[in-house]
Amino acid sequence: MKTSFPVDSFQGIKTPFYYYDVSLLRRTLDAINREAKRYPNFCVHYALKANVNPKLLGIIRTEGLGADCVSGGEIRAALQAGFEPDKIVFAGVGKTDWEINSGLDHGIFCFNVESIPELEVVDELARAKNQIASVALRINPNVGVHTHAHITTGLAENKFGIGMDEMHRVIDRASTMKHIRLVGLHFHIGSQITDMGDFVALCNRINELQEQLYARQLIVDHINVGGGLGVDYRHPDRQPIPDFAAYFATYHKHLKLRPDQTLHFELGRSVVAQCGSLISRVVFIKQGVHKQFMILDAGMSDLIRPALYQALHRIENLSSDQPVETYDVVGPICESSDVFGKAVDLNRSRRGDFIAIRSAGAYGETMASHYNCRELPAGYTSEELI
Ligand SMILES: *Cc1c(COP(=O)(O)O)cnc(C)c1O
Repeated sequence: MKTSFPVDSFQGIKTPFYYYDVSLLRRTLDAINREAKRYPNFCVHYALKANVNPKLLGIIRTEGLGADCVSGGEIRAALQAGFEPDKIVFAGVGKTDWEINSGLDHGIFCFNVESIPELEVVDELARAKNQIASVALRINPNVGVHTHAHITTGLAENKFGIGMDEMHRVIDRASTMKHIRLVGLHFHIGSQITDMGDFVALCNRINELQEQLYARQLIVDHINVGGGLGVDYRHPDRQPIPDFAAYFATYHKHLKLRPDQTLHFELGRSVVAQCGSLISRVVFIKQGVHKQFMILDAGMSDLIRPALYQALHRIENLSSDQPVETYDVVGPICESSDVFGKAVDLNRSRRGDFIAIRSAGAYGETMASHYNCRELPAGYTSEELI
């Protein structure tokens, strides 16, 4: 099945570039809002690291999501896109002083803190400004998930978060700090998770931890369960909008919130992945010894996911309806890992054909680099090109 791309309007544009279907983005955001609003205490943030294209950020902000930032630069991007500071959360294992100060100066909603040394610095910097910083502790719940090893984050072996054994000690420390207010617990177990059982495991772990806190008469204002909901990279058109109904219902069913507690989510990939494609042109078809190579003008500097975590992206020729042939689809960059797909069936292709690499809206444009002195790819929305 071939999706409708405005190929005619691609003619004059320099490739490679990212193309964003904002109608799909809007429908995705509508689904998130509709499903999350069934539960009045649910609150959804968008994880900016998935894509910071200002046009997309503007749409996401207008639809009412908060922002999850992992650097001072992302806080700046969120503010520039108009996100309210009291809807910005700031996570990350290595926040530097200027980044923490930036969060304090703008009065963000919450710092998700990952260690005692970080807690001490936040306390000290807040004291210097005569402020009280709102803090959630990021707990590493030691929950394994069914995803690629490079994108699990909630195992004891990962660098993220505070170990469960350590949690009480950190809470004790925090309670002695005058410029820290403990408002929440934060978790994030990984990304591209499609098995709801993984989220159930997280809920069960959080329930245990909340029992322990309750035993010491501690109830935090909010629980933040991070993001991680996956998308269908194999069949981007089968269910282009992820099953947010099942996702939120899983948390509603399995997580025991205390009265008045709010539940926060930080969704990245599931918001933007399917609306984006990397559009490229065939530079050469090259006959190899046992196979033919399709060499594109897009490479791993434009979309690094296949090289970085063997990610699969559906590839389509937008210019051909000839019989199918098999190609190894590669980029022009001087690295053997610069491969988008091996033994890919595509309509017979020629130099100059437009190729779409699908489901590239998340962790695509935002991870692009200048490697090999290449230019960064531009990003266009469907509204700009029609
Ligand atoms: C990356 C990240 C997210 C978003 O993850 P997705 O898998 O894109 O939904 C959310 N929270 C934190 C803390 C993250 O690091």
